[in-house]
Amino acid sequence: MTTTPRDYLVRATALDERVRAFAINATGVVRELQRRHDTHPAVTAALGRTAMGALLLSAATLKEEEQVLTIDVRGDGPVRRILATANGRGLVGNPHAHAESRNGKLNVGGVVGTEGYLAVTRDLGMRETYRGMVELVSGEIGEDLAYYMAKSEQTPSAVGIGVFVLPDLSVEAAGGYLVQLLPGLSDDEIGAIEQRIAALPHPTALLREGATPEQILERIFPEGFTFGDSQPVSFHCPCSRERFESAIVSLGPDEVRRIIEEEEQPFTEVVCHFCNQAYHFSPDQMNAILDAAR
Ligand SMILES: [Zn+2]
Repeated sequence: MTTTPRDYLVRATALDERVRAFAINATGVVRELQRRHDTHPAVTAALGRTAMGALLLSAATLKEEEQVLTIDVRGDGPVRRILATANGRGLVGNPHAHAESRNGKLNVGGVVGTEGYLAVTRDLGMRETYRGMVELVSGEIGEDLAYYMAKSEQTPSAVGIGVFVLPDLSVEAAGGYLVQLLPGLSDDEIGAIEQRIAALPHPTALLREGATPEQILERIFPEGFTFGDSQPVSFHCPCSRERFESAIVSLGPDEVRRIIEEEEQPFTEVVCHFCNQAYHFSPDQMNAILDAAR
């Protein structure tokens, strides 16, 4: 784990809890995602925004910690698919997809596409899942998430998330915010919040100046937020050799024998799509796994 300790998510409320807000610095998480998936800049931004969206939405909509939230974006752009879960892991269809930059900015909508959908799955435990889905608005992820919040969760929200990628492809800063407008706000109050959000510099500009997640929210709401818990966020993949052993068992003896016979290397390599960790199994090990499962 190379995530830096300044990676965390903070919760806040304002105006008698009629405004709820969440802000995040996830620079270390997105750095780790870029390194593991070897993504090129526009894909790094798309994957990073989706991963931060999962973390922010999870904080905003889930009630218990053991639940897992997943965002799955499938568009008609060259990256094809982006999936991220709220523990900071993710996968992409094509890590080297490219779209020409627009106005000097990474063209996230260009790699994601504008036709397609964004689906949010909340695993509520006890085999119960909730799934909400919206069409893509722009493929820029932030706007698409705001549309999802308004349409599927019936909560008007502003989402500002960004990833700043350096010329050597590494990630300098990644972070952003989610502001939810709850019932009971006056039109004037909503107008004032919208104006401040419109005037806010890009979140990565603030982070690069050294702003903390709390300071980003204070720019939106100078009257003062009441800050709640802050929680560290980090990249985490729950994969393990044992999980892949179970997967080998589930293939069945005939399929495993076929794989052993056709394998040209002295071992079979299985790679986790979420973290690119490779696990190696020799024919003897595969046979032992099958024997043990009998
Ligand atoms: Zn993994």
